[in-house]
Amino acid sequence: MKEQLETIQQEALAKIEDAEGMTSLQDIRVAYLGKKGSITKVLKGMGQLSPEERPVIGEMANKVRNIITEAIEEKAAKLEGAALNEQLESETIDVTLPGRKVNVGGPHLLTSIVEEIEDLFIGMGYEIKEGPEVETDYYNFEALNLPKDHPARDMQDSFYITNELLLRTHTSPVQARTMESYKGERPFKMICPGKVYRRDSDDATHSHQFTQIEGLLVDKNVRMSDLKGTLDKFAKQMFGKDREIRLRPSYFPFTEPSVEMDISCKVCNGDGCSVCKGTGWIEILGGGMVHPKVLEMGGYDPSVYSGFAFGMGPERIAMLKYGVSDIRSFYMNDIRFLKQYHHA
Ligand SMILES: [Zn+2]
Repeated sequence: MKEQLETIQQEALAKIEDAEGMTSLQDIRVAYLGKKGSITKVLKGMGQLSPEERPVIGEMANKVRNIITEAIEEKAAKLEGAALNEQLESETIDVTLPGRKVNVGGPHLLTSIVEEIEDLFIGMGYEIKEGPEVETDYYNFEALNLPKDHPARDMQDSFYITNELLLRTHTSPVQARTMESYKGERPFKMICPGKVYRRDSDDATHSHQFTQIEGLLVDKNVRMSDLKGTLDKFAKQMFGKDREIRLRPSYFPFTEPSVEMDISCKVCNGDGCSVCKGTGWIEILGGGMVHPKVLEMGGYDPSVYSGFAFGMGPERIAMLKYGVSDIRSFYMNDIRFLKQYHHA
């Protein structure tokens, strides 16, 4: 039996030495150390031995088992190391290869303009307010002094969801909602940027969907000169410190008196050119002193409070500032157009 074990050990060690992969190593482990392996077979024959011989052979069998186990482990570590080296050599990285270009996007021109205007008014202490785009007839029209039979409603035909629900035609309902939320109790100033909708045929200057930014200031003793000063600051920051502004009388149902604001033409500096159609002025926005009825419907006592409001179209501002000629460019998502303004 001793000889048997010695032969097993020699054979096993030779096979382990020659093993070329983990699979053959595993096969060797099963063949020698497994339940039906050679060593087990030898141990099964121990019954025929004398009581004195048994412990000697048992000890020897264990020794052989340990030697084989160790040899297998050693070989396995060697094989693994070799495999790793081979992998490292075959998968070398060429650090001199140029990397893949990452496409970085940027804000849409309209987003940039809206944010620029927001920053400007935040700097003057205004709050930013938002409201629903699906609006009730009451907030979109009635609370703004536009009752059902008012002719000015014709200028703002919209997309109706029901008789009482529509896509808002301006951001003015946010003004009404803000006044209501302050319950006529305190002065405030806010701007409300957002998308608005009108039933309009799309062309170079009209779109059925566009954006607006309206502003509203309510306080005691607010005067027309406060409005003019605010708009002058806005014009100079947005279009350059050399811009002059002028106010022309106009009409809006929710302000009285109402004005349109022009800025002096940047191209001709007021002399008259094709951009300003020879007038030297370019129309930018509308505004006025808040109509007493609008204040009253918003919960403010018009004998105590007064206010001014204004509204502008960021598309128009962007078109003037960056020379965009077609309003539809903002919505067609042509990446070539949008990319030009990533650093605007
Ligand atoms: Zn001009």
